[in-house]
Amino acid sequence: MTIRILSSEVASQIAAGEVIERPASVVKELLENSLDAGAHHITITIEGAGQRLVEIADDGQGIPADEMELAVARHATSKLQNAQDLFQIATLGFRGEALASIGSVAYLTLTSRPMDAPLGMRLRVEGGLVGSPEPVGAPVGTVVRVEDLFYNVPARRKFLKHEMTERRQIDALATQYALAYPHVRFELRQEGKLSVQTSGNGERREVMAALYGVEIARQMIEVISREDQIQVTGFISPTSLTRSNRRELKLFVNGRPVQDAALSAAVLQAYHTLLMVGRYPMGILFVELPTEEVDVNVHPAKAEVRFRDANRIFAGVQRAVRRALLAHSPVPHLGGAQLHWPESGDRLSKPPTNSTPTNLPRWGAAWDMAAGGDVPVLEQDLRREAVAGENAGVETGAQPPTNLPPANLLPARMPLLRLVGQVATAYLAAEGPDGLYLIDQHAAHERVLFERMMAQAGTQAASQAYLSPVTVELPPASARLLAEQLPALEHFGFQVETFGPNTFLVRAVPQLLSGMDAGQALKVLVEDFEEDETPLQAEREAKMIARVCKRAAVKAGQVLSQSEQQALLADLEACDSPRTCPHGRPTMIHLSVDLLERQFGRRGAR
Ligand code: ADP
Ligand code: MG
Repeated sequence: MTIRILSSEVASQIAAGEVIERPASVVKELLENSLDAGAHHITITIEGAGQRLVEIADDGQGIPADEMELAVARHATSKLQNAQDLFQIATLGFRGEALASIGSVAYLTLTSRPMDAPLGMRLRVEGGLVGSPEPVGAPVGTVVRVEDLFYNVPARRKFLKHEMTERRQIDALATQYALAYPHVRFELRQEGKLSVQTSGNGERREVMAALYGVEIARQMIEVISREDQIQVTGFISPTSLTRSNRRELKLFVNGRPVQDAALSAAVLQAYHTLLMVGRYPMGILFVELPTEEVDVNVHPAKAEVRFRDANRIFAGVQRAVRRALLAHSPVPHLGGAQLHWPESGDRLSKPPTNSTPTNLPRWGAAWDMAAGGDVPVLEQDLRREAVAGENAGVETGAQPPTNLPPANLLPARMPLLRLVGQVATAYLAAEGPDGLYLIDQHAAHERVLFERMMAQAGTQAASQAYLSPVTVELPPASARLLAEQLPALEHFGFQVETFGPNTFLVRAVPQLLSGMDAGQALKVLVEDFEEDETPLQAEREAKMIARVCKRAAVKAGQVLSQSEQQALLADLEACDSPRTCPHGRPTMIHLSVDLLERQFGRRGAR
């Protein structure tokens, strides 16, 4: 085949493919244009899951009559003039591609009237061919009508997902922007039915209530933080409100929705060890940075951004989330005589009358109290799932709980327990105020050691010196990782020096690992680290500590004396997060009296 220059029609279809992938991309681009135009009221109409019609009407500034044709031309924009501007972008659009792209893969009708014009203008584009603008009567603002998307790109049409999926995507998108722009009134109608509506009164929690329901909106924890030029606002779910995937975690950077795996990882890390494995928080967070700190021109669909100083941003976001989360943290609940932990069947029962929660700050001194109610962090989901695991047939929590009990119902710490004994040399059985508790001795000990070591961070942990230093060689990748972490290692009791390529001299290991040979001890630190992408030093340290603890903790199969069992229980009770091991698995299962009674047929199933 000889080399040929593509016809402009094909070339523009190819270019359009990068921006307009599906109906939701049309909605996104048009919504962004309306927001850039300063609209206060945006109405979206969808038919045929967006393939037959997407229409967006706004009351923004409109397009002057003599710029109508330019608006639909490729690389024509009013938002950017030169390359320097790319680092000062304050608008959502800037590439001048959306209308041109849409016009080349659909029938596009653009109607617009600026405030000072007596009449509006209308322009039609069909398969990339631009008609001539004609005057029409129109309200101030802009209406963009997109019909028969991909009518001339059958291949693309085949790739569209099921209509339901497309509709859901459009719903999600409108929801996201509605939350991001609470001062704008949004209305989305899909197939004639109103599916998203907000008032535009500026209250984000109200928008949340309109979109997710009052109960969820009430429970969400507000994040407000400003720290060296990084502002983080928004809402995150308490640990009791989780999802089975991370899709409900939405991130905005400078008003732009972004997909950034590392940034969402930073948020997830803030929940580290507080959620069950496989559970994710919900949240919507708005990160505001000076424009020159972010490069938004990474991706044609503008869904990705690049940060100039990513680590600083991630750490800032994580701190903001962690602080908000801990400000609503569980209450040490001691001496409560009749604590009541409802099972899935009786989650709406009354709170214990003697519980008087007070939020105790436990995370550093810098502390900006997040506003928004006194909702303590709860772990009822953990409990529910722990019990569900034992109780076949009970929903394991893949679906979000719909009937959450009042958020202040439950103590999140563990009650005082009376030891019964060891079971199967792996579990401790204990009696509590409401039934039986089975405690995984390994997971529980991991938690105890982990909190102890974390509390020591900064001070020198006890270490055990070898009589003569031992040299250890590691594979190159592990060696590199370890070398980066050497200064941190000292805090938790290692004395290690580099000793030639990939070789280390180990003088001492933490007391906790004293029985172990030096090579093994070092490997504990770096095993599985390769796949670990966390950019945060504190997080890396926590992970290494968790690894050490995993190694050092008593194992299943280990016989514990009565006093050892007693000590483990007491230590666990003293933990901040006694219900999960540092990797997020439950340390205990609760079998309530109620459950036992039902199992023994003393009480009918409800
Ligand atoms: P971009 O948004 O990147 O500038 P678009 O192709 O989306 O590129 O839009 C081209 C131009 O058309 C915009 O720069 C803007 O001047 C104008 N425009 C598009 N939509 C609207 C709207 N809803 N209201 C006012 N002007 C608009
Ligand atoms: Mg645009």
